[in-house]
Amino acid sequence: MATPSPKPIIDLTGVTKNFGSFQALKGIDAAIYEGEFFSLLGPSGCGKTTLLRMIAGFETPTDGSIVIAGQDMEGVPANRRPTNMVFQSYAIFPHLSVAENVGYGLKTRKMPKAEIAHEVEQALKMVDLGGLGDRAAHELSGGQRQRVALARALVMKPKVVLLDEPLSALDKKLRDQMQVELRQLQQKLGITFILVTHDQEEALTMSDRIAVMFEGRIAQLASPEELYRRPVDKRVASFIGVMNFLDAKASGRMNGHLALDIPALGSIELPTAQIPEGMDTQNLDSIGIRPEMLTILFDGSEPTEQVARGQVTGTAYYGDMTYYSVRLPGHTADVTISMRNTAGRSIVPPGSEVPVGWGADSIVLFQ
Ligand code: ATP
Repeated sequence: MATPSPKPIIDLTGVTKNFGSFQALKGIDAAIYEGEFFSLLGPSGCGKTTLLRMIAGFETPTDGSIVIAGQDMEGVPANRRPTNMVFQSYAIFPHLSVAENVGYGLKTRKMPKAEIAHEVEQALKMVDLGGLGDRAAHELSGGQRQRVALARALVMKPKVVLLDEPLSALDKKLRDQMQVELRQLQQKLGITFILVTHDQEEALTMSDRIAVMFEGRIAQLASPEELYRRPVDKRVASFIGVMNFLDAKASGRMNGHLALDIPALGSIELPTAQIPEGMDTQNLDSIGIRPEMLTILFDGSEPTEQVARGQVTGTAYYGDMTYYSVRLPGHTADVTISMRNTAGRSIVPPGSEVPVGWGADSIVLFQ
């Protein structure tokens, strides 16, 4: 993965948006770097599209500032900003050809025809549609339309491409393929891409960094790995992947360790380095552990640091993986454990007693 340049291309400071008495954005502070793939991720209504539209210049902030490439955007209209937007609906004119669609923005800028033709062909080549300029837009497949929309943004040579759920209209297989293509293209061009999505898997696979938003605020801004491994709160933890939450209490500290009492797993000592900054462990009420960080210890499995005993209550077979529901003693809900299906290993049927292994370093603390 490309290391994002630490130089900000966009600085958001205290960005707020009110629609009447409703506050859609409640003070957004964030820096988006040059050349990074940045995602705004959150459930419907959290304000991500509003934020993207304000960066584009289609909405005005009620308060706060948006600086792009060193220039304050207050009063700068959308067509004068170094940004270009790819809309969810693609907004392609069906009665125009592919080339006319892609060259539309350049035409309004009064660029000479021959130059437009050259720029359009370059942009179409970038998205693997070279030579398709004469095709009627309505003859294109969903994936091709998506690429035309992208070419139309790229032809304007923006510093930042804004993408509003650009893949949501595609079926799963095509969407997976386009995710890879979009990411590769962004890395090749080195332009900043900002993606709005409610699909956590999409954000995780494509982004250098992700801002997870809830109710008009950024709850956490971090790399995909950090978000997944070290979510700052239960809401982020549940939104990104699956997390098992288990009741826990801190029972004391000694020699650089925090003693934890987790009824479902027993007593453990956690290195204090694992305590998130600023957390008061007196208020700790639960721990989180991901399904793949719990292991059913089959015969011959690698031994783990810690072992608990559980009972399988259900299984879900996914071909390469099986998801087990397992009841642990002292825990009222079942935990989910994901296990890779390897050759010669059969699925453990419900009712079986199984040893469950886990490591202290995979534990996340919550309050
Ligand atoms: P979705 O994924 O559903 O598009 P979102 O996170 O992008 O959700 P926004 O479209 O940014 O959410 O909307 C944030 C909140 O602001 C929502 O509650 C929405 O109803 C409200 N909102 C957005 N635009 C307007 C508007 N023009 N007038 C009034 N309320 C609005």
